[in-house]
Amino acid sequence: MQKQIGKSTQSVWGGEQHNERFERSTQVPVVHSVSFGYDDIDTWHRVALGKDEGHIYSRNTNPTVRAFEDKVKELEGAEAATSFASGMAAISNTLGALLNPGDRIVSIKDSYGGTNVIFNEFLPPLGIEVSLCDTDDSAQIEKEVSNGCKILYLETPTNPTIKITDIKRLSSVAKSVGALVIVDNTFATPINQNPLSLGADIVLHSASKYLGGHADALGGVICGSKELVDRVYHYREINGASLSPMDAYSFIRGMKTLKLRVQRQNENAMAVALFLDQHPLVEKVNYPGLQSHPGHEIAKQQMSGFGGMLSFSVKGGLDAIKSFLPHLNYAHMAANLGCVETVVGPPLTTSHVECTQEERAAAGIPEGLVRYSSGIEDIEDLINDLGQALEKLL
Ligand SMILES: *Cc1c(COP(=O)(O)O)cnc(C)c1O
Repeated sequence: MQKQIGKSTQSVWGGEQHNERFERSTQVPVVHSVSFGYDDIDTWHRVALGKDEGHIYSRNTNPTVRAFEDKVKELEGAEAATSFASGMAAISNTLGALLNPGDRIVSIKDSYGGTNVIFNEFLPPLGIEVSLCDTDDSAQIEKEVSNGCKILYLETPTNPTIKITDIKRLSSVAKSVGALVIVDNTFATPINQNPLSLGADIVLHSASKYLGGHADALGGVICGSKELVDRVYHYREINGASLSPMDAYSFIRGMKTLKLRVQRQNENAMAVALFLDQHPLVEKVNYPGLQSHPGHEIAKQQMSGFGGMLSFSVKGGLDAIKSFLPHLNYAHMAANLGCVETVVGPPLTTSHVECTQEERAAAGIPEGLVRYSSGIEDIEDLINDLGQALEKLL
């Protein structure tokens, strides 16, 4: 059995036991080959049947992609992992593999915008019943799960309202009715939260965010038991939303600094949240590290850091945001998050661009909210930058 090692060591060394395979290179190379050739049919056949180690065709498996999956697998403490062309492909393929007509899925109202579209638009015509609960209302979620379902799908902290749900409590209710629990762990990262250790069956990530960390590669990944991951892998290998080796390489390289980056982002987000919380022009700050946050106690139990994401509303709503955000010098106004640069934007153009204003309102998302993804810049600079930009509103 492998000795328990720290997450920085896992970030650096996880999935890197490859040097024999790759001519003793110390870094995982990008294997751009579509297929893998064999000298004899019997060996080829054994690999194709999965009896021998090896690769056949890169839509199924690829050595660079495998190394990335192994790194995430170690950080999430999972038996198996498989990857996808994007975070949304991870979500849609996982649901596609595990749900059948007549099944029921229970989730929360303010999941990621794209996930919300799957729940509202794509699943119901397939004969799958979707029940979306108020994220804050654990009792309602418990009740819906107790009525029977195939999957309980959670995301915590949520995007962009930064609400917290209790993974352990809800997983145990799901277990009692034989439901599988899936957790989107994109915001928390494996550094701050490991849902499998809290009772979840599958943890998934948009690797495009914190795992990659440099906003230069798109991908997704899921981890869980070999039995479950194999089912989802089979669906993905046939449907074809496979991760490209080049993006897998970018993730491997990015992930070597995952813990360093996330620790810094946790610290920066906390300092920014405290600064905004006392600012006269700020109405409300959503950050689980603040004692005033309704999910603070649960976050303290299930997370080892409060994360790099926060959101806040400014007096004057959307108009105020439109005039204040462009004055920030050290923040991209963009739709991504979790990278080394600070990134800001309203849900209108980021997480919930796919939704109508009514749908955003129904999900409890004010039009005047700013989603703030703290980068790894020096904290004094981020606070001064926010201060001078907010001053422009006076
Ligand atoms: C970005 C994101 C996704 C979707 O990931 P893509 O890689 O953009 O497809 C899913 N869930 C959360 C929480 C996200 O932030």
